[in-house]
Amino acid sequence: MKFIETTLWQHGKERCVTFSYDDGRIEDKRLVELFNKYGLKGTFHLNNPGFEEHFPQFLKEPKFVDPGEYETLYEGHEISCHSAQHAFLYYTPDEYIRREIRENRVFLEEICKYPVRGMSYPFSSYDGRVAEACRAEGIEYSRTVSATNSFGIPSDFMQWDPTCHHAEFTKELWEKFMSPMLYSFMRLFYVWGHSYEFSTEEHWSKMEELCKTVGGDSNIWYATNIEIVDYLNALRSLRFSASCDTAYNPTCTDVWIKADHKPVCIKAGATVRL
Ligand SMILES: [Zn+2]
Repeated sequence: MKFIETTLWQHGKERCVTFSYDDGRIEDKRLVELFNKYGLKGTFHLNNPGFEEHFPQFLKEPKFVDPGEYETLYEGHEISCHSAQHAFLYYTPDEYIRREIRENRVFLEEICKYPVRGMSYPFSSYDGRVAEACRAEGIEYSRTVSATNSFGIPSDFMQWDPTCHHAEFTKELWEKFMSPMLYSFMRLFYVWGHSYEFSTEEHWSKMEELCKTVGGDSNIWYATNIEIVDYLNALRSLRFSASCDTAYNPTCTDVWIKADHKPVCIKAGATVRL
């Protein structure tokens, strides 16, 4: 009997890194430059224009990326929802939540020209009811702000807790992530934040140091949030024979598993004898 473990990311890698930034402020431009320089992938959660008018008390003349620049700026990264008006979704009715997500999707999809299927909760204001309403509008994952300081995969992607905020990133945490594994395990390092938090050159140089530390490792898969969700869905769609000696991949994504502790690629549409 084969020993089977579905514990590998794309290209047979054991570690994956992703970034997630909210609100689409002008500082995203410099952040994307950093991500591109170090080969990192980010997901950018964006609202509809004009939402800041609802928050004059704490948003004093904020500067946002012009939606006309989204397509070029975020190319190679992911554009994702953050609700049309940056609403406190927990304190709104279902109809409002659904409208917030639908209008946000329609606005973003018109620009990026692909289905936008992810989000982060504005103000992290959510519960199970909010998650269900978002799911009903075609959302497949949503990020919270609750740092886990660990590297697991969420059991429910509608409540996706990140590893840490960028300000909480430490070399020690990174070394833990990179340390040898006692057992086979898919590790995920998820950093979130807002680019406007980089308000001084010192902040930017710290962020560049973070990017340099985590980037450029051929053993790590750098992915957007939705690429992670899509890959795991494909991995979970594998069909095995009763003996687990044969696997069929009915999806259009190549996936990797371990059979008797060795990596095996099961190509899209292929049936493989393990
Ligand atoms: Zn926000």
